[in-house]
Order: sequence, then C-alpha cells, then structure tokens
Amino acid sequence: MHDDRTLVEARLKRVLTERIRPAIYPESVPLEVGVWHAPGEPVPVAEGLAAPREPIAVGTPWGPPWGTSWFTVTGTVPEEWQGRIVEAVLDLGFNPEKIGFQCEGLVYRPDGTPVKSLNPRTQWVRIANPAQGGEEVCLHIEAASNPIILDYQPFKPTLLGDKETAGTEPLYRLARMDLAVFDKTVWELAMDLEVLGDLMHELPVDSGRRWEILRAVERALDALDLQDVGGTAEAARAELTGVLSSPAEPSAHRISAVGHAHIDSAWLWPLRETVRKVARTASNMTALLEEEPDFVFAMSQAQQWAWLKEHRPEVWAKVVKAVATGRFVPAGGMWVESDTNMPGSEAMARQFVHGKRFFIEEFGVDNEEVWLPDTFGFAAGLPQIIKAAGSKRLLTQKISWSQTNTFPHHTFLWEGIDGTRIFTHFPPIDTYNAQLRGGELAHAARNFKDKGAARHSLAPTGHGDGGGGTTREMVARAARLRDLEGSPTVTWETPAEFFAKAEAEYPNPPVWVGELYLELHRATLTSQAKTKQGNRRSEALLREAELWAATAAVRTGADYPYEALDRLWKTVLLHQFHDILPGSSIAWVHREARRTYELVIEELNGIIDTAQRALAGEPTGGTLVFNGAPHERHGVPAGGAAPEAPAAAVQVSPREGGGFVLEDGRLKVEIDGRGLVVSAYDLRAERETVPPGRAACLPQLHQDFPNKWDAWDVDEFYRNTVTDLTEADDVRLDGATVVVERSFGKSSLTQRLTLAEGRLEIDTEVDWHETEKFLKLAFPLDVRADRYAAESQYGHTFRPTHTNTSWEAAKFEACNHRFVHLEEPGWGVAMVTDSTYGHDVTRDVDEHGTTTTLRVSLLRAPRFPDPETDQGLHRFRHALVPGASIGDAVREGHFINQPERRVPGSAPVEPLVTVDDDAVVVTAVKLADDGSGDVVVRFHESRGGRARATLRPNFPVAEVVTTDLLERPTGEPERPGAAIPVSLRPFELVTLRMKRAARPAVSR
Ligand SMILES: [Zn+2]
Repeated sequence: MHDDRTLVEARLKRVLTERIRPAIYPESVPLEVGVWHAPGEPVPVAEGLAAPREPIAVGTPWGPPWGTSWFTVTGTVPEEWQGRIVEAVLDLGFNPEKIGFQCEGLVYRPDGTPVKSLNPRTQWVRIANPAQGGEEVCLHIEAASNPIILDYQPFKPTLLGDKETAGTEPLYRLARMDLAVFDKTVWELAMDLEVLGDLMHELPVDSGRRWEILRAVERALDALDLQDVGGTAEAARAELTGVLSSPAEPSAHRISAVGHAHIDSAWLWPLRETVRKVARTASNMTALLEEEPDFVFAMSQAQQWAWLKEHRPEVWAKVVKAVATGRFVPAGGMWVESDTNMPGSEAMARQFVHGKRFFIEEFGVDNEEVWLPDTFGFAAGLPQIIKAAGSKRLLTQKISWSQTNTFPHHTFLWEGIDGTRIFTHFPPIDTYNAQLRGGELAHAARNFKDKGAARHSLAPTGHGDGGGGTTREMVARAARLRDLEGSPTVTWETPAEFFAKAEAEYPNPPVWVGELYLELHRATLTSQAKTKQGNRRSEALLREAELWAATAAVRTGADYPYEALDRLWKTVLLHQFHDILPGSSIAWVHREARRTYELVIEELNGIIDTAQRALAGEPTGGTLVFNGAPHERHGVPAGGAAPEAPAAAVQVSPREGGGFVLEDGRLKVEIDGRGLVVSAYDLRAERETVPPGRAACLPQLHQDFPNKWDAWDVDEFYRNTVTDLTEADDVRLDGATVVVERSFGKSSLTQRLTLAEGRLEIDTEVDWHETEKFLKLAFPLDVRADRYAAESQYGHTFRPTHTNTSWEAAKFEACNHRFVHLEEPGWGVAMVTDSTYGHDVTRDVDEHGTTTTLRVSLLRAPRFPDPETDQGLHRFRHALVPGASIGDAVREGHFINQPERRVPGSAPVEPLVTVDDDAVVVTAVKLADDGSGDVVVRFHESRGGRARATLRPNFPVAEVVTTDLLERPTGEPERPGAAIPVSLRPFELVTLRMKRAARPAVSR
C-alpha cells in the first residue's frame, strides 16, 4: 500500500480547524451590550448590577489596567432556533494563548446568581437546551481588565504591575457578544477527531493501531460534507466508533485526573484580585459539575475557601452544595500553598493547623494529602510536620523544573530530618495545568520512573489562575480516554482515591532522604528583602505574643487575645504563599505586604506590651528584663523575667597598622583600616577563625542577570565576576562599636560591628540603588568541613561544601533560618541572622590547608516582575559566633531573633514551663485554640541527638496529654507530677496539652 499517512494527517488538521470547529456554532445573532466602567477598585456585586449602563459596540476598546467593567447583554432567542441548543458566546477580547493571565469575567443572572466564568478557553454560557424560541436573554458580566504581565517577551520590565504606575490606556477590545446555536454533534465530532488525532501522533509510525486510526479518520472525513458539516457529522462519527471503542492494553498506564485550577494566591495580580479569581473559577466548576456526572474537582488553600465564604456568599453556597456530593473536593490541608523553605518551625506547623481546621470545621474533611504542586523546593523538616498534623501523603510536580538533575522517582517515600517518611507522588505529566491532550498523557506514561513496580499517576487537570479551571473539552477527552487502545487510561478521581491506589500497588517504594531541593528559583531566598524580614519578624513576635499572653492569662487572669492571634497568624500564613514570601510577585503585592507587616508587627508589639505590663505589675522603680527566647539569657530564665543585670564590658584599642581591636574576654576581633575583620580569635579555645591573609565581613557585589525568571533565579555564572567592596569611606569608633562606611555604584553601606559575649554582632545598613546586582557578605573561615548545617523547621539540615556530583554542585545557593553552622570535631563557627535566608558555602585549599567560606545573601535587584525590586534603605543583623557548637548555634539563633524586652518593674516573672536540658527547645507556649484555657507547649530535640529532660509546668496542672499540631489528643491523658520526664529522639517534635487545675497539683 502506498504511504499516504502525512497527507491524511494534514487533511485532518485543516478540516478540523477550518471546517469542523467553526461549524460548532453554525448560526448566531448579536446581543445588545451595555457597560458601566467602575471608576476605581472593584465594587460589591449588588452595586455593579445596579449601576446604569451605556451602550457599547463590539469592537470598542475597554478596560484600563486593573479596571472593572460591568457589561449587560440582552437579546431574544430567534423563533426558528426552537429545539436547538442555544448559548451566548461572549469574547471580551481574549488572547487565546495567555490563558490565566489576562481579562476575565464572571457572569451573573439579573437576580445576582453567579452562572459561570468567562475565560479565554470558556467563552460560552448555556442559554437553553432545547430552546423554545422567543426566550428573553439578560446576563451581567463583571469583567476584570487585568493586564498581561508575563507577555510574549517574558521577563521584560513593565510598569503594569502596580495600579499606581500602570496608566489608563484600555487593554482589550470587545470581540464577540452573540447568541448562537450550539451544534452538539459537531462538537462531539471535533472531540473524537482531536483525541484520535492526538493519540495517533503519539503511537509509533509502524504500529498497526496508528494505521487503524488513520484509516478510520480518513473514512470519517470522507463521510463529511464540508458544505453541510452539521448534517453529516453523525455519519462521520459513526466511522470512528470502532477505533474509539477498542479497549486499553492491560499494561496501560493509569492516570487519575483531578480537576484543578492552580490559583496563585497573589502573583502577577494583587491579593484582592485572587478573591475574584477564586469566585470565578469556583462558579465555573460548580456549573461544570452539574453537567458532568463523572467529573471531580479539587480546590486547595483554605484561605481561598475562606475568601469565598467571606466575600462571595452566593458562590460559597454553590460550593458547599457541591462539596456535599463528594465531587468538589477540599484538597490538601494548608492555609495556602506556601513556600516551605523559609517559613519557620511554628509557621510551617500553623499552615497545617489553620488549613486542616478550616476543612474539618466547614466540611468534616480531614485530608491525609498535602497538595503543593508549585512550591519551590521542600525543606527536610516538612515530613515530621505533615505527620504531626495528621497527614501522610504529599503531591508536588515542581521538582520536574530542576535544571540540572532528573529526580529518579515519581512515587517514593520522602524521609525528613527526624526519620519520618511521607508517601510522595510527583505527577509524571510534569504540569499542574494538564489539558488531557494526547501528548501530555503519552509523556506521563513514558516519563513515569516507577514503571513495572507501579502503574498509577495523577494529572491535575485544568487551567489555573485566571483560566477558569477544567473545561468541558477536557471532560470530553477524559470520557474518550477512559479505556482506549494505545493510550493511558483516564479516570476522574479525588487525590485520596489516587493515593489509596498508588499506595496499595507499591508496598515498597524507594526512599529519598533529606530536602527536595529545587535546582531553580534559588534567588527567591533573597528577592524582596522587606517581605522576608516582615515574615521573620512577625514569626518571632507571634511566638512572643502567645508566650506572654498565655503567661499573663495563667498568672494574672488577663484575657487571652484569641481573635487577634488567629487573625494575625492567618495574615502571616497568607503572606508565606509561594509567590509572596519568595519575592516573585508584582510591585503591588510587595508594596501591600510591606504595609501589612508593619501593621502586624505593631499589633503584636501591643499584645506583648499589654501582657508584660500585666505580669510586671505596678512599676515600683527598676527595670524588668523579659526573655522570650527558649534558653536562659543573662540569668533570666527562658519565658520569664528578672531584674536587669549589668552587661560585661568590651575593651577597645587601636590596631597596629590601622583599625581597631575589640576584646570581651572570650573573643578578640581585629578590624583593619579597610573596615574588614582580619582576625577573630577565640580566647578560650586559643584558635583563630579567619584564615591567614583573608578578611571576613567582606561585602561582595556580583552582576546578576539570569537567563529567565529574574526575581526567581540566580544562575550559576553570577559567580564568574565579583567586586570586593574593600574601599572604606570611613572606619571609626562609636563607643565600643566600630562603624564602617562604604559607597559603591549609586549605593552606600554602613556597618556597625560590636562584641557581645563572644559573638561579633554585625549591623548592616544598605541604601540600595543598583540594578541586576547581587550583594553578599563573605566570611572566610579557617575550618575544614565537608558539610555544614543550616537551620530548617524543628532542626537543621546538612549540605555538602564540595561539588563532587552534579547534585551537590547544583546547591550553589541554599536556605537557612536563624543559623548556619560548620565545624571540625571539637570546634565550630555559627553565623546567625534575624532577617536573611539565602547563603552559599564554598571551600578553598591553599598552603595553609582547607578553608571554608560562608557568604550570606543580602540584596538583589531584579527588574521583573517588580522593576524597582528592593530599591531603598535596608537593615540586616547578623552575628558571627566563633567556637560555637550546634547547640550554641541554636541558642544564638533564637537570641538574635528574640531580643530581650525591658519593662518597668522589679518582681521576677516565673516561666509557665521550664525544661532542664538546653537541647530541648520550646517553640510554642500558648493557650489552646479551642478557648478551653488549656496550656499548649510544643518542644523538640534541636541538635540531632537524644535528649532526656524534665519539663516542669510552673502552674497547677490537672491533666496532661500529647496532641497533634491541631491540639487533638494522640495519647491517654495523665495526671502529672510536678515534673514531666520527656525522652526525645533526634529532632523529635512533641506537643503537650495541659488542663489547668484549680488547686496546685500534688507531687507523686
Ligand atoms: Zn503557583
């Protein structure tokens, strides 16, 4: 037989595009259109519906950046359309390619009931099936003219990312506002041909199945009269029945399709727009669920559900009904799909507390799955937190974005720092916006690394952000792909249904130990410094606010601010969303975030101050020092207060050859005439910290222009060029502080170096006006270390200092919380910080031996998506602690983040709980969220070893019980003695809930 394959394939392509798809709507009449352009920010629905309309013609430009226009379309269904399916086709001027990132609409009936959304790939609204003819049509559209930020020339700086700079030029042109006949048979034919055409292209050219499909397609096209597509579509479909009914091979890959719309809680739009994006998508999906009995849709991020409940009750009501059917599924159990590298221990825990609690309280749903398709890497502290929240499974596809190494598994057990293992799945379809096209499915099957041992994978299916979610076309594809020869099978399922099958078929999956490092987006640890500092400061203050408010409640009967703490936690958790805390959102988002953090910090300081004044009582002269850190400090117990003690003196002297020498009996630091630290001598260990001939506390400036994703990425080549900022404008003494001033480019830098209790405190102020530069602070250390530790949630994670393999080389920028620590046996150095997350560690060998250089990342200046990223004044605090053990690093990390507070008073405050082992760190002391008045204490082993400790509640306790993070009992309640013995494995996390007794408890 002659080979006419490419001819038939080209014929299918043209006929489908030029004849069949246009025949889906064979007849149409224009609708009358009126519009009201809302003058400013979005208005309530009732106001938009009621506003007066002016006529507007199709073809008219509309929509300045970030505007809202309320359209009303009216018309009458022609009498001759009786018996047909009639739809409104409403094209706001969509760009069919930029699916989630442009104008969008939500359609309402005149009574305000939401109908569905309008998006580039869903421009229809069903009017009648079958039509009577003569129906009056009236629909309202709340249309948002969101600008395209990520355009055809992506990553080009744009002023569109903030309403204040975006201008007022209309961005869109009304394209089509019609009533039309929908020819269902032609649409079904289009779907048949699309699915078969897709499949055909994925099959080997020499496979019989491919040729059977080709011949059936040819017969179908032959059966079609191109002048009467509607009249012959049924006959064409009949030719395809055979190939469409041939079942899948027994070994076919099995895909669980989960309807989904990945909605970034803020990104290339402000938070307020996400509220509307969620309303549009949820309306669209409740409408689709009503039409499609097999379809299942999953929506994550409790915050987004809470927005619906608060702001769009009419949509919320529909969602609640759909959830009851079991097909609109709350997915995951976090408040938002947060970053997981940077959130601190308690914040990471509270993501689960508030997320899970919302789904439990609203729907009785307690998910065991964690849904984080898009998060930029996963800290090794996370598995323990997932388990402590009562979950056990994780889904993400993001690691497929890694630039260097291919992850070896798609289904595996992920083991965290404490040994907790979480059943984890990476969808091999490599997207969270699957459309169930043949190419995607074939890629999933081919790509699946666990073939042979496992057969199931998940496909999050639907357009995210502003795309409206899953489309009826995707549902139609799934119906044809349920059991089709040559294709993976496709079944709509919930995440839980998928995981149950995946676990059952794979009893011994491979194990991955340690962090899931994303080899991309490493600059998200540094970009938008003020957002990051706001997060770190808020986390520290939330800890203190709970601690002091709980102490005041128990000791003095003061009211515990339940409502404020709940609200403030949720605000901080929202801002940990994976485009806010990482600094990858538009200017508008970060401008608002800075203001929000200011308000959060102010309110938390107020709560702390009120509680501490209640505890301090009437001022009687003297100063009381409150220690909010989890370790004793200056004789003040952790979580207690005591009268101020005098601080140790620091000796200052001029240095030979210029500069100054600082000494406090533990550490002797030499700062040279350039303002650089040329010596940091540990007087007790008699050991130098700075390698011979090197200088620490050295600011270094790099060119930093990544190939893509400016705010997200720093590419490895940034290290090829570096400028050491050794020139000082001034090096002087201010009391016992050495002040160093430098200027470079258009920027200036002032450092204040102080010695306190064996640590060198470095206060860095930068007035930053650079473009596409990366500023680091370098500390060459005379330590030979093959690995180093960086704090993560409830412990620390080790990373290599060498680059033996591509996996190690790829970790050239990594995350720390409060400390980075490196050591030789018996002696180590810690760097602690109250504000930065990014760092890099490298090694050198010279005639003096091996040295290790730690550099903390201070500032970047990417120009996309915020063209003014980080311009202006910044302040960072770090401390170098020579001679530090890992335990010292933990303690100093807390100290720099929890400064002492001074309040008038003189009567000491006894801590609510004390622990007699410094390795056991208390991360939370609070009253139970249920308002019972129970005291909740959370602690963990912080050094990676075993700990036996005694925990003493210094208040009468009737009953104590271990709980999960949601404060639900996990053990049997016990009547404790005065001391509670605890025994912890490395990094083990424990939560205790203590019921308060009316009278002091009797010791056993
Ligand atoms: Zn995302």
